[in-house]
This record gives sequence, structure tokens and C-alpha cells, in this order.
Amino acid sequence: MVTHTIEELHELFKSGELDVKEYYKELFEEAKKQQERLNAFVTITEDEAYKAIEAPMTDDLLSHIPYVLKDNYNTKGIKTTASSKMLADYVPVFNAHVVDLLNKHGVSLVGKASMDELAMGGTNKSALTGPVHNPWDTRRISGGSSGGSAALVASGLIPFALGSDTGDSIRKPAGFCGIVGFKPTWGRISRYGVIPYASSLDHVGAFTRNVRDMAIVTEALAGRDNRDMTSSNREVPHYLDNLTTDISNLKIGVLTTVSNEVRNEEVKKTFENVVETLKSLGATVEDVEMDKKLMKTLLPTYTIIANSEATSNHSCLDGVKYGDRQQGDTPDDVMINSRTDGFGDHIKRRFILGNLALATENQEKMFRKAQRVRRLVVDELNKIYENYDIIIAPNGGGVAPLIDEAAEDYLSDEYIILENWLCLANFAGTPSISIPSGFVDNMPVAVNISGRIFEEQTVLNCAYALEEALGFKNQYKRED
Ligand code: GLN
Repeated sequence: MVTHTIEELHELFKSGELDVKEYYKELFEEAKKQQERLNAFVTITEDEAYKAIEAPMTDDLLSHIPYVLKDNYNTKGIKTTASSKMLADYVPVFNAHVVDLLNKHGVSLVGKASMDELAMGGTNKSALTGPVHNPWDTRRISGGSSGGSAALVASGLIPFALGSDTGDSIRKPAGFCGIVGFKPTWGRISRYGVIPYASSLDHVGAFTRNVRDMAIVTEALAGRDNRDMTSSNREVPHYLDNLTTDISNLKIGVLTTVSNEVRNEEVKKTFENVVETLKSLGATVEDVEMDKKLMKTLLPTYTIIANSEATSNHSCLDGVKYGDRQQGDTPDDVMINSRTDGFGDHIKRRFILGNLALATENQEKMFRKAQRVRRLVVDELNKIYENYDIIIAPNGGGVAPLIDEAAEDYLSDEYIILENWLCLANFAGTPSISIPSGFVDNMPVAVNISGRIFEEQTVLNCAYALEEALGFKNQYKRED
């Protein structure tokens, strides 16, 4: 099976050079091989895909293009598990808004991808179906929580996939898998029908292998949806048409509070190369800082807010309305038994934390306090955006860890700041993209590029210019 960009596939299908049915036949053979290698699918949706390509092909760039959804997108008639035992047999009666949108463009759903249980995690090791393997080295993690989506795009099987990002769950696995991961502004894309994690931080976004494809997909997803009150009425620009590599007018801030924490010399070099490249493209590139103490509050603040909101959002998963039901003598027992059986230990720990922070006696000093710290962080970030269009920093400190690697030093600044800073863009709701910046020990590493709210175009342009200059695009790895 040959791997193509969305634009290439469109041309090949349209000219008849590639027979669509033949192509899908090869694709599903390959999907099964990749499933053995990567364990990235929860469900392969062969019938649905073939049904979709029965419709006549149109001039829409996404017509007949294969894609994958993270398994927290509700899909009518197709199992949607969120990789949790609680929802292992849940078959929705409706589609998420973005699924309907993509269907209108004529896409073809190839499968539902594995994720960390309920999107809580960063490794994809908590999935009900087991860990997802990184295509570049199958002994390593894909990253999470959108790990299945990332791995499948990085295997070259499909040109794009949807993920969701509450703290970094698109951008972290994109970085580990050598592809592009983008979460636009909070409110830019409807979240209707996406199983929530933490509503004030949750974003819909996508994975692709290049920035042009990302512009196409983002344009298709964006826009107001009356079923999601938090979605914006702002008009959606033509991201693809407006894409340019001319970034000479951009002011870029290098967030040294993050980049200074990099210990790995090779990672350091790739990041220095990014900075030099942006300068050579004519952009104004200067160091910017955030208060280090404030940066160290990111992870604890995120942990309290995300888990509190998750605890509240998931109170509906009680074995009564949905999912895994265990019997009991009283309604309370049914709920207790169902939740005990239906969630992994890791989820239960998070719910305990969430309940603690939301308890009447703690709410002010934990949950509300975390919200106030979030405000301080966002205010400080917005001060930088008064003078800079873009902020860049390394996606993380190293390459994807081995699946059974021992825990990191959770108290080091390297861990607290460098490995967890990406949630800054979730706190502020700003558009944030991660793109490949090089290789270290034959594994991909990445740079993150973020901008002001609703300035997706600026972020995409900066990523596009950098991608063209660095040449790390359309990367995939199919064989061991
Ligand atoms: N790793 C983070 C967490 O576990 C982020 C997850 C996400 O973005 N969905 O909460």
C-alpha cells in the first residue's frame, strides 16, 4: 500500500489512477497487519468504509479519504468504548457533530482508535485493549491519550485521524510518533458528542503527516454548532488557501522557562536548529520567560481542575443509564458495584482526587483555588502575547519511553515543567500545534508552536514555514 497526502490521494482518486475500491482493499489488508504490530484499533469498521465510498466522488478534497476516530467520538451504530470497561459494549444512537460534518465531506471511516481509558493518561497503557505500540519502535509507547490515532497516522495507513486534547493528548503522541498534531482554539470546533473529560480544557483536534493536510481537516471541522454552547460563532477562515511560508512579519517568543529544562544534548540541538531556522526565515525570534514558580503550578493546577471536572462529568457512568451494569440489592449497590468493576484503578484514583477537591469543605481551598491559579497563569501568558504572535518550546525532553520503562523522577523540574507544560494552551484555550523537529536515537522529537486565541492561521503558517524549511514532513514507519 502506498502512502499519500490528502491532496495526492484526491488527485489519484479523481484521475482514476487509483481505483478507490482496490485502494480500500489494500488498505484493510494493511490495517490488519498494522493492528497486529501496533494494537492501535479498538474496532475496524470495514463495512462502514465500503458503504461510504459507494457515494459518488466529489470535488471535495476529503471525498473518499480514509480516516480514523479516537474511540471517544460517538458514532451511530458503532461501538464507542473510550477504551473503558464501563463502555465496552456501548453503541451510540447518534454521531458526534464533527463526525456528521466529516460525513458531509464524504470521508470514509476506517476504524475507532485505542486511547487511554476515558482519555485520562499520557501513555496509552491504560486502554482496555492494552498498550499501543509506537510505529518507529514497537517496544516504545505511542504516547496518549490519543495514542491509537497517532500510531495509525504514523504508520502511513491513513492520512488523518481525530484525537482529543485536554492537557496534551494530541500534541504529546504526535511528537512521539513523528507527525503533526493540532488542537485549535477552545470553541473553534464543536465538542458535541465527544465523551468529555474536563469540559473547560477539552479540545477536538487532529493528526496528519503534514501541515497542509492539517489546514484542510481543521477547516472541515471548525465552526459554530448550536448543540455545543461553547462553540464560537466566528467565521471559519480558509486555512488552506491562506497558508503561506512567508513568516517574516512574525514575532516569535522562545519560551526559555521550558527550553532551559532540556537535559538531553541531542534534543537541545534539534531545538536550537528550530530557533536558527525560524530566524533564517526572517521572523523576529526572541527569548521570553514566564515566572518559574507559576510554571511549576501548571501540573498540580491541571491535576485538580481536570480530575474535578472529570469526576463530575463521569458521574453519569453509573451502570444505570449506561454501560457495564453489575447487580446489587439497592440502587446504591448497583452503582458502587458497576463503578468498581467498570473503571481501572488509575481512573478510580483520579475520581477520589476529584471528589476530594470538590467536597464542600475543600472546594474553596482546592478546586476554586486551582481555578484562580489558572487565571494567574493565563494572565501572565497573555502578557507575552501582547508582544509576540507565536510562542515556541520543545514538545518534551526526550523520545517516547519504552513501554515498561520505570517511572520518571516526578519531582524534578524537568518532569514538572518540561514534560507537562503543554497544558498551558489548554488553560488559555490557545491554538497549539506540534510538528516533528528531528530525530534522536532514531526516534522522532518535536517542537510546539502556539499562538493567540482564534489565530489558527498564524500558528499553521509558522508550522508550515518551519516544516518546509526543516523537511520533516510526510513521515511514517510501517515495518519493524
Ligand atoms: N496526560 C494528561 C492527563 O492524563 C492529558 C490527557 C489529555 O489531554 N486527555 O490528564
